[in-house]
Amino acid sequence: MPTTPQTSATILVIDDSPDIHRLMGARLRSEGWTILGASSGEEGIECAIAAPPNLIILDIDMPELDGFETLRRLKINPATLPVPVIVVSANTAPQDKVMGLELGAVDYVAKPFDFSELRARIRAALRTQRLLDMLAKRAHIDGLTGLWNRAHFDARFHELAAGAQRAGQPLSLAMCDLDRFKSINDTFGHPAGDVILQRFAEILSSIVRESDVACRFGGEEFVVILPGAIPEQAAEVMERVRAELREQRWTRHPERAVTASFGVAPVDERGAEAALAAADAALYVAKSSGRNRVVISGERAALRQAG
Ligand code: GH3
Ligand code: MG
Ligand code: MG
Repeated sequence: MPTTPQTSATILVIDDSPDIHRLMGARLRSEGWTILGASSGEEGIECAIAAPPNLIILDIDMPELDGFETLRRLKINPATLPVPVIVVSANTAPQDKVMGLELGAVDYVAKPFDFSELRARIRAALRTQRLLDMLAKRAHIDGLTGLWNRAHFDARFHELAAGAQRAGQPLSLAMCDLDRFKSINDTFGHPAGDVILQRFAEILSSIVRESDVACRFGGEEFVVILPGAIPEQAAEVMERVRAELREQRWTRHPERAVTASFGVAPVDERGAEAALAAADAALYVAKSSGRNRVVISGERAALRQAG
């Protein structure tokens, strides 16, 4: 198997010995890694929480908070839990190795180091971590459209809603649903329907901002979280999406335009669930007042008439 190219990585060395920090710095920097140092368990945990590194090298034999306790604390904190930890120790007794691995270390290396072995073990741990990160990301991506999926929406929406409330920043939510999509599937076939879903996702992605979170909610329904936007601004964005979709010409059915309806709501002190229900209710108004339009929650009339 070809070796995966190593991109830059930040490695935090937690060790009470200044000599080890000097050695690690000199011998590992040549790999292109950024080496950070902490001289106690407490300091290491603080550093790792403030800016989680790609990997931690943790000494077991430290005064006060020893490596095992440091490792235990790193693994109960959600911020540091995913960071792979290689423990190092002059003590090579099997029960210590077992303890380190049971507490969640990915590897155990004996002091004094053979640096070529340590480097290879670091590379292996980084490679595994990158694969895990990639799989975790894929589990949040919708296969057909490449947008974020429902699981990602559920995780991000509550986080962003709480963050916006704390910061006193506006946040809006837009629900979109393709119009008469069942009839398009029935008339032109499921593959033609899939092409529409993919094109709609492309339109959505090209129009929303980098900081907006566009997700496939399920079936032919989509949802966009728009941080920093009041509902009127979010509705303007959705209006551009609506118009662009309506303008599309489709190879399989040039005579049949495709449209979508949109419901927009603010995410405010009433909370995330209430905002979702409000956006859904606005979408229902958009559907029942003729489709192909954007409706803001609480608005009785359509923002834009069908065009
Ligand atoms: P409305 O304007 O009221 O939203 O009508 P609609 O026909 O769009 O709504 P309905 O909920 O009756 O139908 C949704 C259709 O979306 C039915 C389902 O077959 C189709 N659909 C859901 N997921 C997919 C998919 O992944 N691919 C395709 N091609 N169709 C899908
Ligand atoms: Mg529909
Ligand atoms: Mg639907």
